Amino acid sequence: MKKINEAKIVFTSHLSNEAFARTAVAAFVATADPIMSELAELKTAVSEAVSNAAVHGYKDKIGYITVKMRLYSDFKVIITVSDKGVGIADIEKAREPLFTTSKSGEQAGMGFTVMESFTDGLKIRSTVGKGTTVTMKKVFTSKDGVK
Ligand code: ATP
Ligand code: MG
Repeated sequence: MKKINEAKIVFTSHLSNEAFARTAVAAFVATADPIMSELAELKTAVSEAVSNAAVHGYKDKIGYITVKMRLYSDFKVIITVSDKGVGIADIEKAREPLFTTSKSGEQAGMGFTVMESFTDGLKIRSTVGKGTTVTMKKVFTSKDGVK
């Protein structure tokens, strides 16, 4: 399908930028006129990916997070969230519901599960010591109600 729009934002891993990223993605997909529930799902998935990059990728450091957005003519949007942080040793394990390496008790281990269920495809690429890229696909219901 034809790519009809593309954008990229780069920001530091301060947690306040989670709201910035989710709002930027919402503004980007506005031209596709998505229904509210699907837009809310995508925003939640983006928040999870960005918070993972900040909390796990960079931990106590501040680094750059890149969010790339691509919109296609068939109401499909592809979002990638990348960090150059610590990376993930075992991606399969990290994807499991309730799996977390957080010891504070604040993390539920549900981020990837949320991203998976709120999108139409989730891919994780990661190299220990180099960083992580999460790619999410979301297909919006078109105005005539067809997926
Ligand atoms: P929650 O998202 O519910 O607050 P969580 O972040 O621990 O908890 P997930 O988002 O599912 O749960 O992530 C699972 C685990 O994968 C994390 O605990 C962390 O070890 C690892 N992980 C996820 N994203 C990254 C990343 N960008 N860089 C390094 N490790 C990551
Ligand atoms: Mg998480």
